[in-house]
Amino acid sequence: MSTPVHAPHLFPVAGNELVVGGLPLSRLAERVGRTPFYAYDRALITRRVAELRAALPVDVHLHYAIKANPMPALVQHMAGLVDGFDLASAGEMKIALDTPMAPDKISFAGPGKSEAELRQAAAAGIVVNLESELEMERLARLGESLGLRPRAAVRVNPDFELKSSGMKMGGGPKQFGVDAERVPAMLARMGELPLAFHGFHIFSGSQNLKAEAIMEAQRNTFDLARRLAAHAPGPVRLLNLGGGFGIPYFPGEPRLDLPAVGEHLSGLMPDARRAFPEAELVIELGRYLVGEAGIYVARVVDRKESRGQVFLVTDGGLHHHLSASGNFGQVIRKNYPLVVGNRVRADSEAIASVVGPLCTPLDLLGDKMPLGHARVGDLIVVFQSGAYGLTASPTAFLGHPAAVELLV
Ligand SMILES: *Cc1c(COP(=O)(O)O)cnc(C)c1O
Repeated sequence: MSTPVHAPHLFPVAGNELVVGGLPLSRLAERVGRTPFYAYDRALITRRVAELRAALPVDVHLHYAIKANPMPALVQHMAGLVDGFDLASAGEMKIALDTPMAPDKISFAGPGKSEAELRQAAAAGIVVNLESELEMERLARLGESLGLRPRAAVRVNPDFELKSSGMKMGGGPKQFGVDAERVPAMLARMGELPLAFHGFHIFSGSQNLKAEAIMEAQRNTFDLARRLAAHAPGPVRLLNLGGGFGIPYFPGEPRLDLPAVGEHLSGLMPDARRAFPEAELVIELGRYLVGEAGIYVARVVDRKESRGQVFLVTDGGLHHHLSASGNFGQVIRKNYPLVVGNRVRADSEAIASVVGPLCTPLDLLGDKMPLGHARVGDLIVVFQSGAYGLTASPTAFLGHPAAVELLV
């Protein structure tokens, strides 16, 4: 008997079956009526938010970055848990405004916002995180034409980097935000425009598992915001410190030391309060809130042997889950944690690879994993699938049926 490899252990196992939303997985699959599907566990999301609240200073607010998982039911659930939303398109704005979240707790970032999106944002009363000087002029003109004074924050491309970040989004030349050294001139101009200065958004990167790197970035972020605030046309009402909290995807990856991050941030708070007495301080997180609460489930359709290697061919693949195939920005392909969900503990040590139905060798969900005990009809589970799953995948590629999504 071998135990499942690297399973995150957030989902219980009973009678050798994974239990998801209180149901054995095979029963849940019957309830859904088809495979493949994504299931997101609301209790795990609620628990994660509570852990964050316990670790972070009470006056640091939590925002959810909808891009990580925009499923409407999940965003509705999140609306009752977090203090605000961050979004990056008019599509996400619709999902956010369908929830009870107050518009002034919603902010809109992202380069290349269209005039239509800026008008919608102004009309909605949400905060626009400006990504360029041109966008600032546009927002002011559109607001004026609507007889409104839009709330505007400046997204700053910092003059430092988030070290050890899986995805750097600040420091050096970037398409995101306005270079820190240009922000003082921009703020002077903003004072002449019919815009309500709201604050700063300083996001330096994501998927970081090193507490020290996040702490250093937070220190640098406060310093930078203090320098820039001296040039602002009004008080800072919102200081978005970014996020970047990572989750472990691969064997051997450590968990982020959340208590250490929280303690360090608490230490920065007295100075921050003095420097920004009117500001709401915000941490914005995507995957850390939802990534570990989601699984992707596909059924084994065929079991093949080719020159000594076993392939489990499933009805799911990279068209639903690009990141598990290793093709969503990864440099080296590594296996996500996988189990046979209805036969979790193996009765053999047999090795197999899990592939999908697409006619491309990229369609690989698990490479040579101890899943060789799986049979045709079994359910393969991919953990760590609650963020950047379905909506980050090329769903039209090869024309297979869509995956179902459920919140359990
Ligand atoms: C993508 C993104 C996030 C979310 O990143 P995670 O790694 O999922 O936490 C937050 N803020 C901004 C501006 C983003 O672009």
